[in-house]
Amino acid sequence: MSTTHPAWFVFPPHLEGLDRFEPGKPIGEVQRELGLSRVVKLASNENPLGPSPRAVEAGRAAMSEVNRYPDPQATELRAALAAHLGVPVSHVLAGNGSVEIIDLVVRAFLGPGDNAVVSEHAFVRFRQIVDARNRGAHLVPMRDWTHDLVAMARAIDARTRLVFVANPNNPTGTWNRRAEVESLVDALPPGCLLVLDEAYFEYTDEPDYPNGIELVRRGAPVVVTRTFSKVYGLGGLRAGYAVAAPEVLEAVLVIREAFGTNSVAQAAARAALGDVLHVERSVQMNRAEKARVASALRTRGFTVLPSLANFVTFDTGREGRDVFRLLLARGVIVRPLDPYGMKSWLRVSIGTPDENAAFLLALDAVLPGRRS
Ligand code: PMP
Repeated sequence: MSTTHPAWFVFPPHLEGLDRFEPGKPIGEVQRELGLSRVVKLASNENPLGPSPRAVEAGRAAMSEVNRYPDPQATELRAALAAHLGVPVSHVLAGNGSVEIIDLVVRAFLGPGDNAVVSEHAFVRFRQIVDARNRGAHLVPMRDWTHDLVAMARAIDARTRLVFVANPNNPTGTWNRRAEVESLVDALPPGCLLVLDEAYFEYTDEPDYPNGIELVRRGAPVVVTRTFSKVYGLGGLRAGYAVAAPEVLEAVLVIREAFGTNSVAQAAARAALGDVLHVERSVQMNRAEKARVASALRTRGFTVLPSLANFVTFDTGREGRDVFRLLLARGVIVRPLDPYGMKSWLRVSIGTPDENAAFLLALDAVLPGRRS
């Protein structure tokens, strides 16, 4: 915040001291600031293969009608999602990215004096959004860099309305098994919802990884959020969705701006959902490259967390932000994790084979002692 401000200005006291989200640095900004021609961005867990060509074509076609407001119900996108997921259309809500939906759920369900249970190194937006609402985030320590669902269930009190779990979690990449998640759901008292963030669902490949939508189908008090920003490659368009009981979505619709998802995003997301081959190629490349990057990092002596997503997180053994800056100077953008309380850790998104090689080369240049 600026220290000089107009005489009339009073910073909202209820926001005093709260941190804001630090997004991955954009490629253009780094190119301009450092005068670099080639910049590799491995900082925001995007799809390095780009969007599906079918999504680009559908988005372009939708552009010719942007004089019209979008369909406020996102009818066709929700119908496609309902068919894809095997749930009734009434259980699907489209949003301007999945974080918009998380924000709406918090605003709808968290009243003054209520609280939400959040894991310590969970996706940082949970804590930030809850605290911006009512400073009601109750942080629960992790176990082995993983959500400790038993401790989270124990942390629920009479004023807990929401429990947040990212599965797999960003920035750790770690995940919780079916039985653990089911036990947490069984422990929820009436009036308390589990928000299960499955932004990286499509990348998961463990048989014991639970599909949250099965819980919703069973009538459990669960809101699943997913996104078109990751494997579908549409982060720039902002499209996400929630799957939950219609009663839950009704409450959210009371406060939602009428036109949640823009018309270009609706059209492109629907086309992306249908491009199964693009998703498969993206998942396969991620699987092979993630194994390669993780093993290269372990060979260099770094501790690497097991990840079910499209990134890996490793301990640099020194100030992570210093290593981040050194890599940045060489045109490789990764993510420092000090905002997550993980000061010596970095998160690197899995890119194309070329991008990953550029990352490892830059890392060897900035931390030469680590090279095996
Ligand atoms: N949830 C998690 C766990 C994420 O890592 C991210 C991406 N940073 C999001 C949600 C954001 O998704 P969206 O772009 O749909 O808002």
